[in-house]
Amino acid sequence: MVQSSILGFPRMGRLRDLKKANEAYWGDKLSADELLAEGKRLRLEHWKIQKDAGVDIIPSNDFSYYDHVLDHIQMFGAQPERYTTQGLSQLDEYFAMGRGHQKGGVDVSALEMVKWFDSNYHYVKPTLQDNQNFNLSDDPKAVRHFIEAKEAGIMTRPVILGPVSFLQLGKADRNQTVDPITLLEKLLPVYEELLKKLKEAGAETVQIDEPILVFDLPSKTRNAFKPAYEKLTALQGNSGPQLMLATYFGDIVHNFDIFDSALKNTYGVHIDMVRFPDQLGPVVDHLGEKQILSCGVVDGRNIWKTNMKKTIELLETAIQKVGKERVIVATSSSLLHTPHTLESEKNLEDEVRDWFAFAVQKASEVAVLAKAVNEGPASVRSELEANAKSMQARATSKRTNNSDVRKRQEEVTKEMHERKSSFPTRYAQQKEHLKLPDFPTTTIGSFPQTKEIRQQRNKLSKGELSTEDYDKFIEKEIRDNIAIQDELELDVYVHGEPERNDMVQYFGERMDGYVFTTHAWVQSYGSRCVRPPIIVGDVSRPKPMTVKESKYAVSVSKKPMKGMLTGPITCLRWSFPRDDVHQSVQAQQLALALRDEVVDLEAAGVLVIQVDEPALREGLPLRAGSEREKYLDWAVDSFKLSCAGVRDETQIHSHFCYSEFQDFFHAIAALDADVLSIENSKSDAKLLKVFIDEDYPRHIGPGVYDIHSPRVPGEQEIKTRIDEMLQYLKPDQLWINPDCGLKTRQWTETKAALKNMVNAAQSYRQKA
Ligand code: GLN
Ligand code: ZN
Repeated sequence: MVQSSILGFPRMGRLRDLKKANEAYWGDKLSADELLAEGKRLRLEHWKIQKDAGVDIIPSNDFSYYDHVLDHIQMFGAQPERYTTQGLSQLDEYFAMGRGHQKGGVDVSALEMVKWFDSNYHYVKPTLQDNQNFNLSDDPKAVRHFIEAKEAGIMTRPVILGPVSFLQLGKADRNQTVDPITLLEKLLPVYEELLKKLKEAGAETVQIDEPILVFDLPSKTRNAFKPAYEKLTALQGNSGPQLMLATYFGDIVHNFDIFDSALKNTYGVHIDMVRFPDQLGPVVDHLGEKQILSCGVVDGRNIWKTNMKKTIELLETAIQKVGKERVIVATSSSLLHTPHTLESEKNLEDEVRDWFAFAVQKASEVAVLAKAVNEGPASVRSELEANAKSMQARATSKRTNNSDVRKRQEEVTKEMHERKSSFPTRYAQQKEHLKLPDFPTTTIGSFPQTKEIRQQRNKLSKGELSTEDYDKFIEKEIRDNIAIQDELELDVYVHGEPERNDMVQYFGERMDGYVFTTHAWVQSYGSRCVRPPIIVGDVSRPKPMTVKESKYAVSVSKKPMKGMLTGPITCLRWSFPRDDVHQSVQAQQLALALRDEVVDLEAAGVLVIQVDEPALREGLPLRAGSEREKYLDWAVDSFKLSCAGVRDETQIHSHFCYSEFQDFFHAIAALDADVLSIENSKSDAKLLKVFIDEDYPRHIGPGVYDIHSPRVPGEQEIKTRIDEMLQYLKPDQLWINPDCGLKTRQWTETKAALKNMVNAAQSYRQKA
């Protein structure tokens, strides 16, 4: 019988319950016990949803209070010493690694957090020491949660991150030189012990994720699979559980040699057949004789209903090849990247609502698919008929096609992508207009989104506040933000983005071709969730989106004001994109809409315009090669198309939430942005070397402090950081700014941190 399976379920709960509980705990409004009880309630609820949907294989240990990689760090005793020697409780130590801790005399910054593959989820990087040891924690979370489910009458398949991925996704701690993968031998006993404990607790099968198998891997890493899986598979059927080796977000075809030499003995293998359906045939050719094939056919990364007819055909192909007993129908990846349930959406029009499936609905989809192939299509006739009808309706809907947009796309020329002059000429003019000091200071756009801001926005949406009163409130916020920047003596101001709920949703709501939701939250990191708008049709801008607020800000500010836009790739990547039109087409539509906005801002007197593209990197195809080059071509073109309509004296900034440019530096340079701000405070300043090596002529603001944490950096700490940067960048290239926007912070820490930042910058001017 074909079984149905889910690789992971969203953690937040229907109403972002986990976010609320975590934040209440951090704010001392909830006790540790209450937080843990809420976590337990959510886990039980989620298991039950999956069970009721008829899912055969339900995951456990997919739940996490902050991040699943961080869970493994603690479970394996891999916490750097600075967290374990503070006298914190286990739970506080855990959160300290995730978000820093500055309370009760303890002051530690968070571990580095980076994007999880090409998603908008962030994981905490295992941060390892030269003399690293690992120890399985006393009451390992994976075992605890398995037992918890079992006691509730639900048999689950625990999910753990595999040892090779755990190490490969990690890094050496600051001032350490260890190559993580060399720690494998030390780590394996911990995995053996964990697997044995899981088996003892009753787990027959464990999902062991090795998602790095979709990458091109260095040989040291490739070679690590064999010793690792020889050990771990040897336990199968004896003292350890069966291993379902899971990969996702890409194909594993380029790593078949690893597969053949090291992975054929696992009980099963899971592949992502949404992204790469073509890997089915080749993977089957490499399967071990009895190996189970878990077919990831229900998209874990998007919200579109599964096309049942096509998917059943695909599954039948798999069944033909290996037989029913060896096929599992699964989600392509964890459903972590999808919102909880469509049922919460009360405002969606019926027409589009019928096209979507969120996590709860996807749980039913895998169950229906399994039934369809086990008992024949007749057993689920009404479901299949309804599905065929939705597919047909979407394909023929008027909402999807806009001929004006398509026509404008045909008229795009090469010249439209280029600024009028090259950087030196532009810069000379910008200098004259902006009159900035050396080491100019600025922020990345948003200021704290206070409770009051959220309340006012809520009132507006409920109709309890008139648009006029709301606009007045926003203007007051802008004036307050400017007064604060006056006081802080920043150099290039921002209006603070108080009117924006989210940097992508805000734009989505102002463009045609989008629909948006009320509850479709997806975890981004820790307790932070985003609510991606959904691109359903051709995109266009009916009218200016940000000009009113920016123009007002310019009118009440005596220093240059930066206009703030979200770039085309980020709008695309942080939305749920269409799956019926190539992403390059959607990106160009967004670029044309933004181009009009940029030109309108300039006309309104906004002479510095920042077009944020933090998602540029995460869109990179996970493997190098022609696919990546193609992506970069259209992505860079979209960015340039959106910005290039301005005069030379208008300064274009762009912002990226990461500092790893090494592997696609030419694309970053090709953006031709006058100023780049990047996240850098938690990475090695050495990463900046690439700017020198490549003779990068334009200006750069590597973040001088971490904004994901409430911790206030001292002035000296910031100066040290600037000194490090000056080893790699020329003084006249350097801007001083935080890592990213400040919307998730409180005002107290924000002011204190910015004050220290400005003081640090000013001290360099005196030196100069
Ligand atoms: N301008 C945005 C802000 O400051 C940028 C955020 C981001 O890059 N993630 O909030
Ligand atoms: Zn950022």
